[in-house]
This record gives sequence, C-alpha cells and structure tokens, in this order.
Amino acid sequence: MKETAATFIAKRTVRAADKEHRRKINFNIGKYNAVVPQGKQQFADLNLAREKAKNIKWRAIEKLDRYLEEFESNISRRGAKVIWAENAEQALDEIGKICAAKNCKTLVKSKSMVTEEIHLNDFLKKNGIESIETDLGEYIQQLDDEPPYHIVTPAMHKSKEDVAKLFADKLGTDSKATPEQLTLTARRILREKYVQAEIGVTGANFIIADIGAIAVTENEGNARLSCAWPETHIVIVGIEKMIPSLIDLSLFLPLLATYGTGQRLTVYNTIVAGPKQENETDGPDEMYVILLDNGRTNILANEKTRESLYCIRCGACLNACPVYKNIGGHSYGTPYSGPIGSVITPHLKQMDEWKHLSYASSLCGNCTEVCAVKINLHELLLENRYESVNSANSSLAERMAWKMWKQGMLHRKLMNTGSSRMKNWIVNKLLKGWKKHRSEIEFPQKSFNQLWKEKHPGS
Ligand code: SF4
Repeated sequence: MKETAATFIAKRTVRAADKEHRRKINFNIGKYNAVVPQGKQQFADLNLAREKAKNIKWRAIEKLDRYLEEFESNISRRGAKVIWAENAEQALDEIGKICAAKNCKTLVKSKSMVTEEIHLNDFLKKNGIESIETDLGEYIQQLDDEPPYHIVTPAMHKSKEDVAKLFADKLGTDSKATPEQLTLTARRILREKYVQAEIGVTGANFIIADIGAIAVTENEGNARLSCAWPETHIVIVGIEKMIPSLIDLSLFLPLLATYGTGQRLTVYNTIVAGPKQENETDGPDEMYVILLDNGRTNILANEKTRESLYCIRCGACLNACPVYKNIGGHSYGTPYSGPIGSVITPHLKQMDEWKHLSYASSLCGNCTEVCAVKINLHELLLENRYESVNSANSSLAERMAWKMWKQGMLHRKLMNTGSSRMKNWIVNKLLKGWKKHRSEIEFPQKSFNQLWKEKHPGS
C-alpha cells in the first residue's frame, strides 16, 4: 500500500471515531444548511441558472487556450505582467524572483487554495519572508499551524471556545473572549501587517477573458486590502478559473455566494484589471498574474474528467458528503478535499499515489445533486476507479478480484455456483479487507433463482 493511502486510512479511522469532531462539524454544516435555501430563493429558476453556469464553463474550458490568450493580451495592455507556470516549482521560482527584486520581508495574503496547493507559505518561510494569512479562518489555521480544513471555511472544525483558547495561547488574549473581541484582536494585528507588507498575494475566483481582469469574492475585505495596499500585487490562479465575459459574473457571483455560504451576494466583490493606472491614486504599482497549470492540462486532455474543471470551489459538495462529514477535511492529505478533491487530486498529482481518494465515497450521488454547476461528481469518481484499475500500476490481485466480480455479475449461472457457506467464507474470511469495518455478510441458503422457482412454479 502506498504511504499516502496508509496515512489516509490511519487519519480517517481516528477521525471517524471522534464524536466531538462530528458534533462540531454537524453544528457548522447545520448552520450552512439553514441559510442555503434562503440564498436559493433569489433565483427565479435555480435549475436553469445551474445549467446555464455549466454551459458557460463548458465553453470556457473547451476553448481555454483561446480565452487564456485573450485574457493575457487584455490585462497586459493595462500593465499587468502575466507569467505562465507549468508546475508548482515554476510558480514558486517566479514568486521568489519577484520577492527578491522587491526586497520583500513581509507579505500579506488572502485565502487561496492554489497557494496551499503549491505550498507557498513553506517556501516563503524557507526564504526568510514572513507570510501573513489575512482571512480570519486562515489566520486561525496559521496560528494553529494547521492547513485549511475546508475549501470555503478553513476553520470549520473549530468551535468558538477552541478559537478563544488558541488566541489566549498564542496571542495572550482572555481565554473567555467573545468572537467579536477575538475578531477585533485579529483585525488590529492584521492592519499593521498590511502597512508593513511589500507584497500582497491573492488568488482569483474568476479570470475574465474579454476585459482582461481577475475577480475576487470575499466577506472580510482582506483580499481587497491585500491587493490594493502593498506596492506589488501577485495573483496566483489555476487556469481553469476562466469565464469568457464580464457579463457572466452576473450569474456566477450570486451562484457562488448561495452555494458557498447561503448569501445572496458575498460582501466584497472586487474586479482587478491591472496595477494603478496614470491619474489613479490607489492600487499597487505592479501586478503579476501567475497562470498555473500544475496538472490541470492532464484533466483537460481527458474528455471524461474534463468536466471537473468547471468547479467554482463553492464547497457545497463537501458539506453534503457523508464521508467528508465523518472523516473531516484533514484526512484527505490534500488541499482539495471532499468529492471534488477526490475527483481532481489523482489527476493533479498521480493516479497511483492518490487513487484511494476515489474510493472514499459511498457513491450516494448527493455531491452531484448539490453541485452549483452540475458536475457529475459521483460518475467522475467511478471513472477514476475505472482508470486506476485499468492502469498498469494496479495490483494483479485487484485486477483479478474485479474480473471475477464482473464475471459473476454478468453470468447468472456463475453467481449461483457454490453453497452459501462457501460464499460466506470467501467474503468474510478470504477477503479480510472487506470485513475490517463491516459486519459479516450472511448469504441466504437459497439463491434468488431457487426462491423465484419456488414462488412461481410454472414460470
Ligand atoms: S464540485 Fe460543484 S459543489 Fe463541489 S466545490 Fe465544485 S462547484 Fe461546488
């Protein structure tokens, strides 16, 4: 078994038995579930809105090469520098060069899963640069030296008491401080950092081709401060975040807000189309946009899984997933957790190392049901399983087991072969892995065909 799979199994086993963890997650997801229906009411025809969003993303991804060039040419005209990064190393190398040129000592950054993907904070720390997370949830996680737990709600697994204790330990605040008092403490500390920072880093929720801009959506105003206050703004964004036109935001912003947090619209929505222009008083002197591939073109090349690039990272599939709610975000061992993480991670990294995530699903289809852009997530999980079994790296035992199962399912005679005792022995004793977390299977004495004949003698 690969180390990634062994770690996953160890972590998920501990988490699944942690009732306190489950209580906190159920509490926080319960709050999400209570507000999402209110957000949905803003759509006259929600189903049509989701279909339309899927179609727009389909168009953007099918013509991604063209739209990326259009974006580059439009934003470059306003003075932004576009950098194409094939992988994490190239992206970090470019960021390192910019930091060195600006003599950067302090960098503020807003929430961005792509920066988690390329391990930006570790890289900056190694290079002696202080990197401060300015999103409150991310700031909490950074104080606790933990990666984000959820793609939208980084500290979802923490209660307000946990956060008060953490602030007391790390910042010396009162351990009984209220959420308002804790927020004000974080605000005071972060405000000073915005002033000190030479560079601000943000992700982007959308890249807009026709006007050459990026759109960032958030609730705290920290992303806006991160990109506007320091003299240099670096955007790191996955190439799949493309939408063809500014007009498309009128659909995607409310859709993302509703499915992400149950809001009609997120509080701050910022469109950045370049650095400070002549006659403008605010904004950074320089802006860099790093367009990151890092495995996304592998997904693009695969006609079946290409659909996963439509994802707008709303997090709804995580909140709906019974597996995620049991094992939690950290068990996955990757920034992208839950159903969408299980679909894309084996392609972004390596199928052989990460295929186990595609099996972390009951295939109930709840993820597909709730997806803001109607991605057929459970079918893509099945597709991953198919690819992993057919790959040269799958074990002979695994291939044999699936072949036998397929033959049994296709041929009734084979299915009826053998006594129930023999079948019980095969499943409960021979296939030990099956039984590890399940009760024993008891096959009936008579086969379905025998029972049918007894009930319908003439048939
Ligand atoms: S796959 Fe769908 S539900 Fe999951 S995060 Fe992406 S857009 Fe949201």
